[in-house]
Amino acid sequence: MTYPDTYYSRTRADRAERAPLAASLDCDTVVIGGGLAGLTTALELARGGQAVILLEKESVGFGASGRNGGFVSPGYSTGGDEIAARAGREAAAHLHRLSIEGMDYVRDTISALKIEGTNPQPGILSVLRYEDGDGLKAYAEKLDRDYGYRLEFLDTPALREKLRSKRYFQALRDGRAFHMHPLNYLRGLAREIERLGGRIFEGSEVTACRLDGAEKIVSTARGTVKARQVVFTTGGYTGSLDGRLKRAFLPIATYVMLTEEAPDLISRVIATRDAIGDNRRAGDYYRLVEGGKRILWGGRITTRAASPEALARELRREMVGTYPELAELKTEIAWSGLMAYARHLMPQIGERQPGVWHCTAFGGHGLNTTAIGGKVVAEGILGQSDRYRLFKPFGLVWAGGMAGLATAQLTYWKLQVQDWWRERAA
Ligand SMILES: Cc1cc2nc3c(=O)[nH]c(=O)nc-3n(C[C@H](O)[C@H](O)[C@H](O)COP(=O)(O)OP(=O)(O)OC[C@H]3O[C@@H](n4cnc5c(N)ncnc54)[C@H](O)[C@@H]3O)c2cc1C
Repeated sequence: MTYPDTYYSRTRADRAERAPLAASLDCDTVVIGGGLAGLTTALELARGGQAVILLEKESVGFGASGRNGGFVSPGYSTGGDEIAARAGREAAAHLHRLSIEGMDYVRDTISALKIEGTNPQPGILSVLRYEDGDGLKAYAEKLDRDYGYRLEFLDTPALREKLRSKRYFQALRDGRAFHMHPLNYLRGLAREIERLGGRIFEGSEVTACRLDGAEKIVSTARGTVKARQVVFTTGGYTGSLDGRLKRAFLPIATYVMLTEEAPDLISRVIATRDAIGDNRRAGDYYRLVEGGKRILWGGRITTRAASPEALARELRREMVGTYPELAELKTEIAWSGLMAYARHLMPQIGERQPGVWHCTAFGGHGLNTTAIGGKVVAEGILGQSDRYRLFKPFGLVWAGGMAGLATAQLTYWKLQVQDWWRERAA
């Protein structure tokens, strides 16, 4: 079983292992990559009656899907205005509704399949590190008006009742969003795919693909799969398998740490079971786990994988800066993961030639969007809808290679400086 050492791999409920592909098999659709995008696509295809095979290089959930913060909320990695600028207002509104549907899909799937160990907990607080109550209220009113989506406004005293930090001013609470254990969730999806007759092979890196012709052939070290449809869902872990995909997005690393157990100390400063995220670009996000015994704290992005230990020190500095009372709280474990970002910051979803699909580049907002991405791709393959076409304005554009990575890092630093100035002015 190849999982990195994370809080999630330590606490996974289901420890089943799957054999590598070692035969020549046929199916309707072969899915490459066992993250949430691949698993959701495969599940929806299996539900639609297809014979589906999923090939995963390591173990299902080895990538970002099994290592993330566990926040499930509406939206994408970029804002509504940027989406509208490229796709138009109406399409942007449709896309936002899809992102809400994706969030609801995850919640409903957990409850319909009774997936063990997911611990879904409602409530995400989006907090401001400077004064702008009016801006937050205006944003909440707009969401209510446009989508009937309700958020609760918290002023500074109400927020500081829950979070005892001088860094925070106002907040919006989303009671429909939730947080959960993502690795247990996706392992529940894998089990359901198999219960419906789908087949999953782990330790099965796809090393070659023949994509021309009606019948596609994908190969691993010890086997092949023939299928009429292929779906690429390899995310930030995409190697050199497919040049066009590799050039279309950039792998960006981000970091999470888990504290030691200290329920009494933690409850003195964090008096809520809601998950918390601040509104900076690549800001802090954290939540209590194990009934409030520990904090799982995430943040930071880098374009070159830094050591998790060095980044854990930075995350700790953020945590103690926010809550000085936690100065003695130790970090027990830290890890990193790779997200895939396209230049337009939106998911890349579609059929690039007959029978060749991609569903990827979900960035740092992947839990709801992989769910809806997998669903609309499966609907497209099954001929049930063409909702996947809504993502057409966000194609496989070149992400800029090494220069793109350097630009991403510079942009991040620039945004960090802007955030810092805004807070100094608060
Ligand atoms: C640390 C971290 C925190 C995050 N926090 C959140 C959060 O709180 N909320 C949120 O919404 N989003 C969050 N995200 C983003 C979210 O996790 C991702 O957008 C999402 O999981 C991407 O899913 P995916 O299926 O596209 O890719 P992945 O989960 O990365 O899956 C890709 C899979 O493809 C496999 N693969 C690659 N190449 C091959 C090959 N040739 N053959 C076979 N298999 C292959 C890999 O091994 C991998 O398992 C976070 C991401 C990270 C890294």
